[in-house]
Amino acid sequence: MTSTLETVQKNIVSAACDAGRPPKDISLIAVSKTKPPGAIRPILDAGQRIFGENKIQEAAAKWPELRQEYDGVELHLIGPLQSNKVRQAVQLFDVIETLDRPKLARAIARICGEEDKSVICYIQVNIGREAQKSGIDPDALDGFVALCRDELMLPVAGLMCIPPSGCDPAPYFIMLRKMAERHGFKELSMGMSADYQTAIACGATSVRVGTALFGARE
Ligand SMILES: *Cc1c(COP(=O)(O)O)cnc(C)c1O
Repeated sequence: MTSTLETVQKNIVSAACDAGRPPKDISLIAVSKTKPPGAIRPILDAGQRIFGENKIQEAAAKWPELRQEYDGVELHLIGPLQSNKVRQAVQLFDVIETLDRPKLARAIARICGEEDKSVICYIQVNIGREAQKSGIDPDALDGFVALCRDELMLPVAGLMCIPPSGCDPAPYFIMLRKMAERHGFKELSMGMSADYQTAIACGATSVRVGTALFGARE
């Protein structure tokens, strides 16, 4: 029987080929939020190593142990980060994808210094300018990039977005790609279970897939 992991991997390869892109340029982030270690181990056993979690508490409860069992895990924070949880986030995660405001950038820079640890950052852009969504406003991106990269010297690798639901995500993915190109960022984290193939067609370098791998969440 074909596993969900194999299916998603195959879909990534064919979306990449359709777009004339090398499949190895696209990383799969397996979004394991709400899933217990027992549901995550089979995916680890199958060789998947990049995972995404959206809550600090939950990641702290699951991942230190899984990291002891499996080498080479790369953990991405894909949920909102409060400034008072930055120390824990820096200790737990390899990549913070939700850098979206100056106060948070300053806290990450300071705490990485104190902890003598570096954490790759993606800037999250509120690409649909939705009031309830996190992410930096597109109009504020240039100034924010200057702060993060040039002033605080954070290792910003790319941009991340969650497009508005209920409409075609492609124009938003393309907008994000153009912003990344303008700033010379290589990485684009965009696309989830419902639209990762579209995101790959639009230039995603990583896709964040939960439901299509693990099944529906409670
Ligand atoms: C939950 C989540 C995902 C995965 O969503 P699915 O639709 O289950 O694939 C991706 N990105 C973020 C930021 C999420 O919170």
